[in-house]
Amino acid sequence: MTRTEQTESQSVHRTGRQTGGQAGRQAAFRTAPRRTVLISGAGVAGSALAFWLNRYGFAVTVVEKAPALRAGGYPIDVRGTALEVVRRMGILPRLREAHIDLRRLTFLEGDGREVASVHPHSVTGGVEGRDLEVRRGDLSDALYAAVRDDVEFLFGDSVDTLDQRGHGVDVTFRGGDRRTYDVVVGADGSHSRTRELLFGPEDRFHRYLGYRFAVFTLPNTFGLSLETVMWNAPGKAAALYAVGDQDDVHAFLNYAHPEPPSDAFGDPRAQRALMAGEFADAGWEVPGLLAALREAEDVFFDAVSQIRMPRWSSGRVALVGDAAYAPSFLTGQGTSLALVGAYMLAASLADRDHIAGFAAYEHRTREFVTVNQDLVGEGGAALFPTTARALEQRNDRLRNLSAVPSGSGRPAHSALTLPEFTPVP
Ligand SMILES: Cc1cc2nc3c(=O)[nH]c(=O)nc-3n(C[C@H](O)[C@H](O)[C@H](O)COP(=O)(O)OP(=O)(O)OC[C@H]3O[C@@H](n4cnc5c(N)ncnc54)[C@H](O)[C@@H]3O)c2cc1C
Repeated sequence: MTRTEQTESQSVHRTGRQTGGQAGRQAAFRTAPRRTVLISGAGVAGSALAFWLNRYGFAVTVVEKAPALRAGGYPIDVRGTALEVVRRMGILPRLREAHIDLRRLTFLEGDGREVASVHPHSVTGGVEGRDLEVRRGDLSDALYAAVRDDVEFLFGDSVDTLDQRGHGVDVTFRGGDRRTYDVVVGADGSHSRTRELLFGPEDRFHRYLGYRFAVFTLPNTFGLSLETVMWNAPGKAAALYAVGDQDDVHAFLNYAHPEPPSDAFGDPRAQRALMAGEFADAGWEVPGLLAALREAEDVFFDAVSQIRMPRWSSGRVALVGDAAYAPSFLTGQGTSLALVGAYMLAASLADRDHIAGFAAYEHRTREFVTVNQDLVGEGGAALFPTTARALEQRNDRLRNLSAVPSGSGRPAHSALTLPEFTPVP
């Protein structure tokens, strides 16, 4: 089958599924064949990119390894330039409704005594009334709802091989399907399979920042409401984050270790055993957290690390979000980079071929990525000292923090002005 034939057959399939969607409206007056794109991963970057590429006239397929959209994870921040992305997508009002108006962040000593109780923005650099903090699932639901009628989603499947020797990318799927696309984008997170297929093993690009962490939920039996409580000992932290007073509470366990937990990736039993061993002697609520971790079904475990790559594309395949430039939760900017990166990639491809488009994406976005990845030395990272002396110094800084956050936010969060959206005619 030629590529043009395949484009047409895909668009028949798509219009059949999407009566009345924007894709159908665009198809009515388009004469040239639509460029086809496969996006691997229906996370934040994948769904946002699908939205914008569809608006620019691409025929979009998203393949997601999980059987359905993945929920779970710690609440995430949308700040600075990324706020403008979600505003232009039309989902800002929905996200404002979902905003968690976190009131207090309380730090505890190893013996459970209070060190300081501050406004969360004093530590994160967020801006009251402007920046958003939402459950990760609320954001991915909003992104998916904005695009699901207009693009094809393939859940429970993934890319097996990519072959760029022809005039497109020949893709074989684990489920057995074979298709050809004009462009493929890996939005499959920091352990990206697309990156591995394209550029080789993860350890070439992985910059380990010295911690391993797990997040999961448990019933909120702690009487916490719209607040975070964090317990620290040298090299260890445990936190409870209550997004409301009824819901489950998010638990977080983090410990310092010189090596990344490579053997534990993909092995939930090993992940639980690592945490249990490391926190065996910890006080406060930690024994209860370890018991809950044994039963939890939504554990997200990872190394605290960044992905830093010299290039984000090769031929007709590019990377976006964590797959290309995960900044780590220490910066609080992973989701914002994924949203801005998706917008910039789509805008760069809109009126260019893939060679010029990928070059423009990187040229216009790299500095924003770098200044945000470089935030790793500030804020979050300083929250997890590894020695008793450094912890005492951190506690002194927290005691002296102003109760009122500065209100202007970190310059890095807004260090890029988005190009205008110019829809396809
Ligand atoms: C369930 C979940 C919970 C998370 N919790 C946290 C957290 O608590 N703290 C934190 O710092 N970060 C967390 N993250 C990562 C965080 O969401 C990202 O840093 C950020 O939102 C950038 O998003 P992204 O779209 O680039 O990557 P992600 O949000 O990681 O999305 C990647 C998507 O690609 C899918 N995928 C992976 N491999 C393949 C494959 N081979 N083929 C097809 N699809 C694939 C994944 O299932 C996922 O849906 C979590 C991610 C997920 C998926």
